[in-house]
Amino acid sequence: MVLRVAEQFAESDTGRERVGNEDALIARAPIFAVADGMGGARAGEVASRLAVAAFEAGLPAGEGCEQELAARAREANVRIHELARDDARHAGMGTTLSVALVDERDVVIAHVGDSRVYVLRAGGLARLTEDHSLVGELVRRGQLTEREAAEHPQRSVITRALGPEPVIEVDTLTYPARPGDVFLLCSDGLTSMVGEDALARVLRETATLSEAGRRLIEEANAAGGRDNITVVLFRLEEVATPAAPAAPAPPMGAGPHPRRRRSLLGPSIAAATLAALVAAGGWIASRAVYFVGSNDEGLVTVYRGLPYELGSSILLYESRYISGVPAAGLPPGRRQRLLDHRLRSRDDAAELVRELERGRLEP
Ligand code: MN
Repeated sequence: MVLRVAEQFAESDTGRERVGNEDALIARAPIFAVADGMGGARAGEVASRLAVAAFEAGLPAGEGCEQELAARAREANVRIHELARDDARHAGMGTTLSVALVDERDVVIAHVGDSRVYVLRAGGLARLTEDHSLVGELVRRGQLTEREAAEHPQRSVITRALGPEPVIEVDTLTYPARPGDVFLLCSDGLTSMVGEDALARVLRETATLSEAGRRLIEEANAAGGRDNITVVLFRLEEVATPAAPAAPAPPMGAGPHPRRRRSLLGPSIAAATLAALVAAGGWIASRAVYFVGSNDEGLVTVYRGLPYELGSSILLYESRYISGVPAAGLPPGRRQRLLDHRLRSRDDAAELVRELERGRLEP
């Protein structure tokens, strides 16, 4: 049996709140990719484009596909990392990357970050990727439910991305595909707005992938459209091979049993090593985010990291700047808004506190 792409859809929508679109995609059968960039002043756009561009030249089919995809992702990581390091305009940029390559009988996937790959088979939707996000780790450790994760204020903090580090671990997977399978690659602008039940319903109810894709984007926008929304869909069919009739399909109840492998660095961040990684400063995302709080003396302070403690001794944040402004002196509404521990960029947090200090100096 040989599979090919029978139908496809690919579109990226800015959504309703963002000014620009930092997502990128390619849909050039047999290869499909989605990347969701981050970083100030359009740098995210640069990162996501570099990530998908690594797959534009096509790829050899057959053995070694997972390794080949992972190698390309690692090369893209080096390019993004070096640009971010050498050029101030691109400092701190990064991107997710989810790639799917249709091989003769399999769909080969490489993945970093919190974009996702799903497959719809016989009406059932299965997620094939793990989110490399703070809430994803907490769900896997049993500390959050999927529902709590969807509402969590730090749900957009990712723990693995292309760009921030010189070396990246890439998840890879070979999924034994069947004719009729529909694959969905998407950025979190879709999945943070539209639940998995609704994704499955739209994919089941629509006649074409174009209709399905447009409806998914519509539903994400109707739910708020808070982020860029990227949707890539493709459906597989069997290529007629008269000389070798297809073997009967395995029983339907068998369900997908992907072979899961990881490259380079071994298993993903395990529960037991999470705390150690954080202590060693290995938590990628925590170094790029800031929040405002008050310190032990009650002074408004800018912190770098995440507003969490793991146990009593491991803090996920450090103090970066202590203002001269006592939090208790602020009007209650202002104080609450300022000290809400919302994650901010460094500039955003610094500007807030500078404003506060200027305000105090004015008569
Ligand atoms: Mn996003």
